[in-house]
Amino acid sequence: MTNIGTVGVIGAGQMGRGIVQVCADAGYQVIVSDVNEDVLNTVTATISKGLDRMIAKGKMDEAGRDSLLGRISTTADYAGFSDADIVIEAAVENEGIKTAIFKSLYPHLKSDAIIATNTSSISVTRLGAATDRQDKFVGMHFMNPVPVMQLVELIRGIATSDETFDAVAAMVKQLNKTATFAQDFPAFIVNRILVPMINEAIYTLYEGVGGVEAIDTSLKLGANHPMGPLELADFIGLDTCLAIMQVLYEGFADSKYRPCPLLVKYVEAGWLGRKTGRGFYDYSGDAPIPTR
Ligand code: NAD
Repeated sequence: MTNIGTVGVIGAGQMGRGIVQVCADAGYQVIVSDVNEDVLNTVTATISKGLDRMIAKGKMDEAGRDSLLGRISTTADYAGFSDADIVIEAAVENEGIKTAIFKSLYPHLKSDAIIATNTSSISVTRLGAATDRQDKFVGMHFMNPVPVMQLVELIRGIATSDETFDAVAAMVKQLNKTATFAQDFPAFIVNRILVPMINEAIYTLYEGVGGVEAIDTSLKLGANHPMGPLELADFIGLDTCLAIMQVLYEGFADSKYRPCPLLVKYVEAGWLGRKTGRGFYDYSGDAPIPTR
């Protein structure tokens, strides 16, 4: 079984940063890259800020933070991944972009290195076919926020080997998280169930059945959800929610998965949720304000 010591991460957005943090925390050497230079240059500082909040809460000490940060390095070039035992891709939810990343990445890797994707919905089999190592390609779907959420959904493509699957399952244990196993169908388990519910909440808003606050309060108090579905959509990112609905819609060719036109409009407007400061809530002030 591949012995994992060095982990590469591609994409330093909200998911990539979380994956970098938990891997470094578990003792792995971590190398991270992002196409956006500003994001790459600030990734360690951004993670450090989050760790400072943990120190303030007494959940970590300064020595722990410094040794965690000392295990993280950055690279602007895929040649920097030549020592990686596994590379986890966490770039945007776009099949063309992910495929292009894999094609430029694999020539730089050791022949036995594993490639994992953090895709929320796209076929692991199809993504793996864009590499030179379908048997060493696997879906590793972390949840948001990565340092807090317990689950990692592992998805095997049709060609993923048992050896690869065992290696990533062992890594999930080392990260102190729990794995579930899903077959390679559109959006796997978590998002097959969760994102159509979010889409339905947006339809409920679109049709005027209720306002943002009424919908979120109803699900929080009426179904005991810790976050309302619209709040959760803003947290996930509306672009990601839309991309997942499109994968479900196209993957099953079933109209029950059609993305709500209001979700499409928000994404077209660049209102992507928390990460852009506006989605179903406006985040410019001290407390989020419903936009509808
Ligand atoms: P994000 O928008 O916060 O970050 C994406 C990052 O990818 C950005 O920093 C961007 O600069 C970078 N990027 C774009 N093109 C790239 C390229 N060619 N090479 C390298 N980096 C590139 O998005 P996110 O929420 O972190 O999502 C990343 C992935 O994780 C997606 O596949 C998404 O579906 C999946 N995911 C998201 C969530 C969630 O709740 N947001 C949960 C689980 C999985």
